Amino acid sequence: MKTKAGARYLLRLDDANPWMRQAPWGRVEALCDQYGVQPVVAIVPHCEDPALRLEDEDENFWEKARRWQAKGWTIALHGFNHVLSGTGRGVVPLNDRTEFAGQPEAQQRIKIREGYQVLRENGLDPTVWIAPAHTFDRVTIRLLQEETEIRVISDGLARHAFTRWGMTWLPQQLWKPRQCPSGLWTICLHPTSDPETILDRLENFLKSTKLSSVSDALSQARPWGVSDAVFAWGFRAARRVKTWRRPRGKAAV
Ligand SMILES: [Zn+2]
Repeated sequence: MKTKAGARYLLRLDDANPWMRQAPWGRVEALCDQYGVQPVVAIVPHCEDPALRLEDEDENFWEKARRWQAKGWTIALHGFNHVLSGTGRGVVPLNDRTEFAGQPEAQQRIKIREGYQVLRENGLDPTVWIAPAHTFDRVTIRLLQEETEIRVISDGLARHAFTRWGMTWLPQQLWKPRQCPSGLWTICLHPTSDPETILDRLENFLKSTKLSSVSDALSQARPWGVSDAVFAWGFRAARRVKTWRRPRGKAAV
């Protein structure tokens, strides 16, 4: 498998929390070490989502997260409790279940403030926002600017990093490793819930493909424009067809 010219990739690991499944996370970390990958890791500060609490609490979780940070992994704030009790689509309309989109400002503010504080108190410096289920709105963005130092969002449908609404966006379009045309592609994995075959696929991908760094990706951001809007429209249309063909498919959150 050859890397297509001009394609750059970031790896993102979602749903880290003290109750996550240790074995697949350990395998991903070993692969990252072996191939020199520094992923973005999305940490749930106060996880109350039963789908993500699958093992006994790891008392060393925060120490592990600090070790990730020391290795150059980028720490991302992944919501607050990851409970998708609301209905709303927000600015990246991939799902309609939400912890944030369309929710009252006061509630969003407390979750962002306290979630950020949990990570900071545990010695982490979160620099990226990742909304559970991709669902957040313009209010969420303003509150991130008011309550935190976070100015980067890992989300959005585009082929390049872009700036919009006072934030730099690293687009996220893939849920398993695969070769793509030129552009910046973020591969989002969920080690706790993905099947083992996805990690096999990651291993094969890393054998042939060198991943980019977050700092490089950020340095190439440009203002969001018409071509990005066209890409997002086409991506959503293609995804709708795919979902329609596989009605039992479950969207990753
Ligand atoms: Zn998640």
